[in-house]
Parts: sequence; structure tokens; C-alpha cells
Amino acid sequence: MPVQHKGFRRYTLHEYIAWLETFVGQVGFTGVHVHGTWKPTIADYRAASDKERLIQSMWRFHVGTRKFNDIAQHATIDPDGYVWEGRSLLLPPASATGFNDVDQDGRHPFMFEMIGNFDIGAEQLRPPQLDSAVGLTKAILDRWRLPAAAIKFHREMQPSKTCPGSAIDKSWFVGLVTSNEKGKLSEKDANRIITTWLQPAWGTAKTKEEKDEIHRLANELRKASGQRIS
Ligand SMILES: [Zn+2]
Repeated sequence: MPVQHKGFRRYTLHEYIAWLETFVGQVGFTGVHVHGTWKPTIADYRAASDKERLIQSMWRFHVGTRKFNDIAQHATIDPDGYVWEGRSLLLPPASATGFNDVDQDGRHPFMFEMIGNFDIGAEQLRPPQLDSAVGLTKAILDRWRLPAAAIKFHREMQPSKTCPGSAIDKSWFVGLVTSNEKGKLSEKDANRIITTWLQPAWGTAKTKEEKDEIHRLANELRKASGQRIS
């Protein structure tokens, strides 16, 4: 007899990552599969008085109509940035046919859904939901030592789909995942600005004030990128 009801726990991103870390030795993730639900939409989520029921309705659709053995995804990110548990992390996801990996050696991709319709002209992926999607992707790549190339959008695996949404640019998303902390300048960029622009300007500066100012700006860049000043 099929299960009639399943409960889903809700985590903050921080709590979810702490829980995820307990799986590092238990499961080998081969990549991160990024999806958008399309339906339920963000508007559906906002209108729902009981948010867990929305997750349960997806589970019911996946199990009842699609005949999956559980909800398809490992995690669902809601518009408030909360991360809901999905199927067991130890099981391969129902992400895209041919890309779920045969789970012979306990290795498979991690799959998450973001609630919303992110096609052009529809809804928008914004913080805090965006921050959780980026943070979760980053956590999987870090903990499982995966390259950025391991991030896959559903539409890359199934070109008839726009999923996670035609308004979400892949390189923009990957850029957010691979960039440093918000507001932090990378050492590489700082040094590039110093050598390409500031040093030549220092060389041609006419007055000591000008030279001192350029020197000060170079040190501000060094500080902002966590380097020692000179
Ligand atoms: Zn999808």
C-alpha cells in the first residue's frame, strides 16, 4: 500500500548545510542539478497558508502521477530562502532521464528545486531564495570537491525544457557560486588593477601628492582583498 502522507522538515540554509555535512562520508555526489518548479509558483507559495502542504503536493504528484518512488528532488528552496528536505540523500534523484546515475557505487548527483516560474516575463529569482540556491550549490561543490562544471541546469540535460527557467542565465548563476564572499575583492582582480592601471599612473605622476594618492589607493585594494599593504 502506498504511503499516504509524508512530512518534510524545513531548515535555514545554515542548518541544512550543517546536516548535509554529516553525509560527506556516506554519499558521493557527482554534481548539482538545478531545477525550478514552474508550478507551484512563487505566487502559489505566498498564497499557501500551510507551506509544508505545498511540498507535500509535489511529493504526491511525483509519487502518484509520475510514479517515482519518492519526491524527485533532494531539496526544495522556497522563496523565503528556506531549504526543505526531499528524498533521501543516499538515493539517486529523479532529475533527468539518463542523468540520474545508476547508483551502483553510492554516487549520484544532488538535485534541488527552487519554487517559482522563472521563465522570461514570469517570476524572478531573488534573495533570499537566490542566496540559498547559490549557498547550497557552493556547499555541495566545496564539501564534495567538485568543479563548477559539475553544476547542471535541467535544460542542459533535456533541451526541450527551459528549466530552471529561461530568465536564469547559467553563466550568471555559476559566476555567483564561484565568486568570493559578497563584497570581497579577489586578490587576482586587486593585483590586476594595481599592475595594469595604478602602477603606470604612479610612474607618470608629476607630483608627490599624486604618487602618494595612487599608493594609498593600491593599499586600499590590497586591504580589500586580504593582502598585506606595502
Ligand atoms: Zn527541471
